[in-house]
Amino acid sequence: MATTTSPDIHATPEVKHTQLLIDGEWRDAQSGKTFATMNPATEEKIADVAEGDAADIDLAVKAARRAFESGEWAEIDARDRGRLLNRLADLVEDNLEELAALETLDNGKPIRDSLAADLPLVVDCFRYYAGWADKIHGDTIPIRGNYLCYTRKEPVGVVGQIIPWNFPLLMLAWKWGPALAAGCTIILKPAEQTPLTSLRLAELALEAGFPPGVINVVPGYGPTAGAALVKHPDVDKIAFTGEHLTAQIIMRDAAETIKNVTFELGGKSPNIIFADSNLDDAVAGAEFGLFFNQGQCCCAGSRVFVEKKVHQQFVDKLVARASNRKLGNPFDMDTEQGPQVDQAQFEKIMGFIEKGRAAGAACVTGGNRFGDKGYFVEPTVFDNVTDDMEIAKNEIFGPVLSVLPFDSMDEVVTRANNSVFGLAAAVWTRDVAKAHHIARQVRAGTVWVNCYDVFDAAAPFGGFKMSGIGRELGEAALANYTELKTVTVSL
Ligand code: NAD
Repeated sequence: MATTTSPDIHATPEVKHTQLLIDGEWRDAQSGKTFATMNPATEEKIADVAEGDAADIDLAVKAARRAFESGEWAEIDARDRGRLLNRLADLVEDNLEELAALETLDNGKPIRDSLAADLPLVVDCFRYYAGWADKIHGDTIPIRGNYLCYTRKEPVGVVGQIIPWNFPLLMLAWKWGPALAAGCTIILKPAEQTPLTSLRLAELALEAGFPPGVINVVPGYGPTAGAALVKHPDVDKIAFTGEHLTAQIIMRDAAETIKNVTFELGGKSPNIIFADSNLDDAVAGAEFGLFFNQGQCCCAGSRVFVEKKVHQQFVDKLVARASNRKLGNPFDMDTEQGPQVDQAQFEKIMGFIEKGRAAGAACVTGGNRFGDKGYFVEPTVFDNVTDDMEIAKNEIFGPVLSVLPFDSMDEVVTRANNSVFGLAAAVWTRDVAKAHHIARQVRAGTVWVNCYDVFDAAAPFGGFKMSGIGRELGEAALANYTELKTVTVSL
């Protein structure tokens, strides 16, 4: 197989920042500690990064509080917040290839995805919320009596944002965009596996003109830096994306200060394929819906329900596509699948593959490590999976797809909803009424019809059930970062 490497993309982009950004200054952790961030394709160290903990979080919270309550940001006109967000979007565009390369280096995702998916969505997100900055307003409300009653939407204040490693820059953008449009100040705790692009983006935010203290970035570990942010009494809100088990800890830690929390968590999303669908499109959608980003998507279509009439035909076509996926160096422009993010994820996925085999599911393609260096897992398809198997119930967060045959529409709705999660779902059919019926019946925050993983900054995204609380993106996300104040004036 011939490979082509883009002449513009370097396998070793320069790592410009490894320190914490607090109050507009780059600093070492007060403890002096660092941690290593690794290249998952080579298992080699990329850089040592400052390891923030409770003392650094406290400094960052003080800076964010100061910036929120006094100075330039506290007084800023809403239009100027929009201008700053647009300027940040411009700078991301100006440095798009460098950021894409840094994301690929730290996370392992194929460079073609960083360039074509992650970075353009980051730019769109900043521009979308730039447009909202001066359109966040309340209502006048007709109440009984001789009063003028109106509402104001005020920024929630100092916000702690904790993000995962699967889309480091995009998860940052989903959180920074609405928070900055609303006028909040931020302490971001990136995932320990992928701190590099958040630090580079923080530098671009300074260059864009965000005043010191508005955006602070403190890399570190979850149970230390993350927990300190959640417990800090002067943080008004925590916005978290990650696993539901971590969210349970955060909810308990946030209880002490009755902190406003929003959660974007995991899923076990059903992808329902009817016999009357365009089967080639459905197969392509199932492949993309699960294998994109190495299967490390919260909304991965990991339970593929296929109507029995087309089951064998579907599996044959899917296996042909999955086994043909190009794995390898994520910096090769034709690589479709890179390594998993780290050894722990790699081992967890291999463990699920063993459990699938042991439970009697048919592994029809993949199932092994790919190569002998880097955390690569072959695209894996299990057929004849039953609802009670662990691979059908738990989020694997890797390139492992389960095919579950079904007979009827009522049956598939019941089985699709038989999950603690409710993040996303998809249905493939040519029957419009059937599509809308499924869209209404499935308990999930997003339903795609004859498509998968269609994201837009304007379309809200988030989960029912244990997949989350609140919504990101769209106008809906502004509610995460605003308090509603009611003012009543006697006339
Ligand atoms: P994770 O929960 O292990 O970690 C996420 C973040 O939480 C990291 O920054 C981590 O350091 C921090 N953290 C860990 N323990 C903490 C604690 N006690 N207090 C505060 N912070 C703590 O998740 P992950 O493995 O990085 O990411 C994968 C998960 O994220 C999957 O479940 C995936 O579905 C979910 N996810 C959801 C969405 C969505 O929009 N719904 C998007 C991306 C990822």
